[in-house]
Amino acid sequence: MSSDQETRGDGGGSKGIVLVLSGPSGVGKTTVYRQFMTQCPEVRFSVSCTTRAPRAGEVNGEDYHFLERDDFLRRAESGEFLEHAEVHGNLYGTLRAAVENEVQAGRDVLLDIDVQGARLLRESAAGTPVAGALVFVFVGPPSLPVIEQRLRGRGSDAENVIQRRLENAKAELGAWCEYDYLVVNDILGDAVAELAAVRIAARCSTLRRGAPWTRD
Ligand code: 5GP
Repeated sequence: MSSDQETRGDGGGSKGIVLVLSGPSGVGKTTVYRQFMTQCPEVRFSVSCTTRAPRAGEVNGEDYHFLERDDFLRRAESGEFLEHAEVHGNLYGTLRAAVENEVQAGRDVLLDIDVQGARLLRESAAGTPVAGALVFVFVGPPSLPVIEQRLRGRGSDAENVIQRRLENAKAELGAWCEYDYLVVNDILGDAVAELAAVRIAARCSTLRRGAPWTRD
């Protein structure tokens, strides 16, 4: 095998990819990936842990694992998280075992994490089997005012919470160029199609997919 071939996929196509989605509050990221996942039900959502209180309609174990701060910190200490970060005053973390097991089993996983979490993940995964599976996707708005309109339209958060999220959103937008792909959520159907196309492209990358005819 040439050295060029050695840096490529193993030909089995047996490992899953990890779609790491970030984007500021109000960009409609959740709507985009929920619709994407109804079209691609084989993609697993990585349920994060958080110390934030559940919002109306959120289900423990489906939207998040809602934890007390002590419990979260104990799990962080024992290495249960691939990454964890404080966002808007609450702790959020990605469960290591859930992601690693799915990828090993050949299933694609979708992570919804903030920009700091994505940076931490890039560092902490370096040199591990998960590193080659990571595909970083930023979901952005078509314009800045659209974010504020969408945050207010949600109607579930207090004014001080909206203001804090707006400030964070502006700061997060600057990180778009750290990502492999940019999905712009102007027309929802187009954004969902773009995300689906990213998934296919990432799976077909020669970095992950080896030539099946070179397998034993
Ligand atoms: P929300 O409280 O609105 O559900 O999420 C707030 C922010 O936390 C979003 O930007 C979301 O991407 C981020 N987030 C959710 N889960 C995780 C996680 O496991 N790790 C990190 N770093 N951020 C997360």
